[in-house]
This record gives sequence, structure tokens and C-alpha cells, in this order.
Amino acid sequence: MQPSLIERIIRDDVRAMGAYHVPDSHGLVKLDAMENPYQLPDALRAKLAARLAEVALNRYPVPSSEVLRARLKTVMDVPAGMDVLLGNGSDEIISMLSLAAAKPGAKVLAPVPGFVMYAMSAQFAGLEFVGVPLKADFTLDRAAMLAAMAEHQPAIIYLAYPNNPTGNLFDADDMEAIVRAAQGETCQSLVVVDEAYQPFAQDTWMPRLAEFGNLLVMRTVSKLGLAGIRLGYLAGAPAWLSQIDKVRPPYNVNVLTEATALFVLEHVDVLDQQAAQLRAERATVASALAALPGVTVYPSAANFLLVRVDDSARVFDGVLARKVLIKNVGKMHPLLANCLRVTVSTPEENAQFLVAFQAALQD
Ligand SMILES: *Cc1c(COP(=O)(O)O)cnc(C)c1O
Repeated sequence: MQPSLIERIIRDDVRAMGAYHVPDSHGLVKLDAMENPYQLPDALRAKLAARLAEVALNRYPVPSSEVLRARLKTVMDVPAGMDVLLGNGSDEIISMLSLAAAKPGAKVLAPVPGFVMYAMSAQFAGLEFVGVPLKADFTLDRAAMLAAMAEHQPAIIYLAYPNNPTGNLFDADDMEAIVRAAQGETCQSLVVVDEAYQPFAQDTWMPRLAEFGNLLVMRTVSKLGLAGIRLGYLAGAPAWLSQIDKVRPPYNVNVLTEATALFVLEHVDVLDQQAAQLRAERATVASALAALPGVTVYPSAANFLLVRVDDSARVFDGVLARKVLIKNVGKMHPLLANCLRVTVSTPEENAQFLVAFQAALQD
């Protein structure tokens, strides 16, 4: 292939990008991606297999996924009068939001450090991304947010609740001030509260949807134990969702995902129990880490912990040498210098991690 042809066709910013890097985790205890370590119990897996065998693979999905949407609304307590839109993971919903809002010059604003897809997706769709640094303790810098909103007039503001990779829930009053300011005379924006970790936070903006005409709540089943099926959803007023739905690829949720999600929603108590177990484990791991000299553990409402050490690259390598894969986020943002992120897992895997981590600190 001639490089000149590639240069002529592929966008400069795309050619300049690195590929999304997923590290090889073969043979490792995988604690880098906030996956739920628990599978469904054997009896349910057998039932699911039977259910999936009945799925008509030769047919396109029903484009509106009406049954699944109705079920999600009930199970997830979506307020009356609100609708949900489905995505192939919430990553796809973020893409749809970018695409639908990509007027010339439009911007996306979010606190940083935050979820990287907000910025990437904005760039892909040709929107400018504005990152507003959190305070050093990872709380929202309300004044800086309001000032940046007035200056940049963003189309979309993302607030991850709790935030990734810091793990904390932002202060509700700070968030409300932002949502209200985005309805004001100096700034008019859509605010998307990203509740990917809601099962571990047990706190939500969902009931407040009716209160704010510029608010949408995004969730996913990924962190709840179904990362493999790729299903996210966006809840909010039908007037918003019907517009965003126009840029949705019509068959974005495949029939196997739909059938699996419907099945699992019949047994949501199993997932709730797993989430409760992980919340308890989170407390155990956090206090074990906090007891180690030179280690700072940050409060987490998610299924991961953010910890600061003296040299995150060295500790990451030491942990990896002991066959445990975590994530070194130390280079992601200056506020995260020497920070590591570790997913909370089963008691056995957490114990393995703690042994590896403690040894790595002394390397
Ligand atoms: C993991 C994550 C998502 C993406 O979830 P998918 O549904 O798997 O695409 C969205 N937002 C945040 C903050 C996340 O951490």
C-alpha cells in the first residue's frame, strides 16, 4: 500500500493516534478492567444456554428492542414518563451523543482526570474536548467548572458518578450547581451523568431526571457482570432520546445480547448479591492497603480502588512480575502522579493481589 494514499484518505488526527491498547492478560490475575469476577451460577448458565438456543439468529433484531427497554425501565427504576435508548455498551452511547451534537464548533466538557472515551469520542466526531481539572483531592472544582462552562459554552457536559479512575462520588450540591448553571443564561448544555458504577455506589441521579430538562443518566451492565454482552443504556426525556436515536445504528443491540440481558434481568438478585459481595471486599482490600506504609488509598464508590505509591511504574512492574495485572494510571494526568488502579475481585484474587503488592513495594 502506498503511504501517500493512506495519508490522503485517513485523517491526520487519526493517523497520529495510538491504537486503544488492551494489554495481554494471558495467565495473569486480571484486575485492570473493572470486570466482575463472578460468572452466573451453573444452574442459571444451563437455563441461559437453553434460552439462547431458541433465539432466531437468522433474523435481524427488532430495531426498537421494545421488550428489553420496557424491562430495563422497570428493573432499573426509570421514572415514569422517561424512556431509555440502548447502546452496544455505553461507549456507543457516548459516540451517538457526540455525533448528534456535532454542530460546527461544538464542544464537550468534562472534569479530568476522567473516562477517556468522552474525549476520544468527541475527537472522532469533530468536537473539541475541554477538560477541567479536579481539585487535588479529586473533588469537583465548582468555580473552575462554572467558569469553563461560561467560556466554552459546551454542548455536552459529562459527570461520571462515581468518577473513573478516581472512584469517588462528586458532591451532589456541586453537581446540582453545574446542572442548574447549564440551564442558565450564560450556558446551555446537556448534562450526562454517567453511572457505570451505580451497583457499587448505590446512589443515583435517576429519580431526578424529571427535575432537570437538560439531564440524562447513562448506565451499563458491563461493570455489573456482563461486560461481554456489550449493553449500555441512556435514560431521559423522550424528546432528547428520539433525536439521539436517529444516529443509532438500527441493529446495534444484537439478538444474543438482547436475549441474555432479558434472561439476566429475571435474575437480577444474583447480580445484586455479587455487587454486595464486591462492596464488602472493597472495604477489606482498602483497609489492608491503607495499613501499608507509604500507600494512600482513596475513597471509592466503584468496584476499583485508586492508590498512590512512591513509584507507580516500579510497583506496577513488581505486581505484574507476580502475575497480577493492574493499571498504572500515573501518567494519565498530573493529578494522578504515581497512582495505580486495581479492580476489586474475589477474596482469593484480592489476597493474591495484596501479597504481590506488598512484595512489589519492597522491590
Ligand atoms: C467502563 C465505563 C464505561 C463504559 O462501559 P461499556 O458499557 O462497557 O462501554 C462508561 N463510563 C465509565 C465511567 C466507565 O468506567
